[in-house]
Amino acid sequence: MDPKQIKPASAAAQALGWVDEKTRAVSPAIHTSTTYLRDEDNQYRSGRGYIRADNPSFDQAEALLNHLEQGSGAMLFGSGMAAATAVFLALKPGDHVVAPKVMYWGLRSWLQGFAKDWGLDVELVDTTDQAALAKALRPGKTKLVWIETPANPTWVITDIAATARLAHQAGARLAVDSTVATPVLTRPLTLGADLVMHAATKYLNGHSDVIAGALVTAKDDDGWKRLKAIRHDMGAVLGSFEAWLLLRGMRTLFVRVSAASRGAQQIAEHFAKHPKITAVLYPGLPAAQGHAVAAREMSGGFGGMLSLRVKAGEAAAIAVAAKVRLWKRATSLGGVESLIEHRASVEGPTSPVPADLLRLSVGLEDAGDLIADLEQALAGGS
Ligand SMILES: *Cc1c(COP(=O)(O)O)cnc(C)c1O
Repeated sequence: MDPKQIKPASAAAQALGWVDEKTRAVSPAIHTSTTYLRDEDNQYRSGRGYIRADNPSFDQAEALLNHLEQGSGAMLFGSGMAAATAVFLALKPGDHVVAPKVMYWGLRSWLQGFAKDWGLDVELVDTTDQAALAKALRPGKTKLVWIETPANPTWVITDIAATARLAHQAGARLAVDSTVATPVLTRPLTLGADLVMHAATKYLNGHSDVIAGALVTAKDDDGWKRLKAIRHDMGAVLGSFEAWLLLRGMRTLFVRVSAASRGAQQIAEHFAKHPKITAVLYPGLPAAQGHAVAAREMSGGFGGMLSLRVKAGEAAAIAVAAKVRLWKRATSLGGVESLIEHRASVEGPTSPVPADLLRLSVGLEDAGDLIADLEQALAGGS
């Protein structure tokens, strides 16, 4: 069956329908060999020589992700950070890049530290404000606009289509960290983005047991070749077992993301007018920043991530996280189990995250159970 003729959910469930020709296996083998036999005439007719360049264990996961994102090529990396930093390392010292003020903090601190030391002219702007973004762009000088939407940990929304137009007018490329939306809810390349990045550690794998990253490109151009060379030369490749697990996770991506989105919506609505909560940050609420844009650029839900601001302040927020019984008190996101964390503690004293904020990653438990657990924790626990 041609995957183009079936719904993306069907293509994912069947991992594009691939079956091993030799064994008729419906689940792929794991190839662990680091090296490949040379032909007698000194060529590599298999197209493979050494594992850092390429790995047959990547083929299906890359093909499936590329199909879901409607790209022209996908590449797996050893982590989300390896995929993201490759995009910046492909630039040249002196290049101007624009990134959001609100974003995954690990990448923000790398941009403000290593990337600046290395020579990139990094400017952090409020990318949810198109006027501010337009002002920051320097035609001919700005080479890359990086956005994350919904963005950690306040889940603010940046308009991908509008940002792509502005970036392209200035001669810059647009890369989108789409870890939270996943291709189930948003396909940034179809909205004009040039690159999509995923921390595949999160929803794509979905079971909190693999670290992986990915890039998908709109065009198989020189920029993509440079990124391939960076993965090869800097060596941030994924392992074979991890690639196999990632594909297994991606086969259930649609049911997981749909269920997590439904649960998050229910939890957000429940706590929206709660006396002990001053704000529920979730793009699925009509009053949320960016709701209209999210409704346009996301379909099938608003994702499984939300944050609560606790009225009684930081100590009370930490106490709520301490008193939950069902939610797991841990960092990360996108797994089958629901996680809660006091985000400012994770990011440290320079964090712009409000001290009263609890970040929630909604998993696949019953939403009523998750709400009841938060209610008992807010009431002081027992
Ligand atoms: C986790 C995460 C990353 C980094 O991914 P790793 O796999 O931990 O390196 C980047 N962006 C977002 C939005 C993330 O949640």
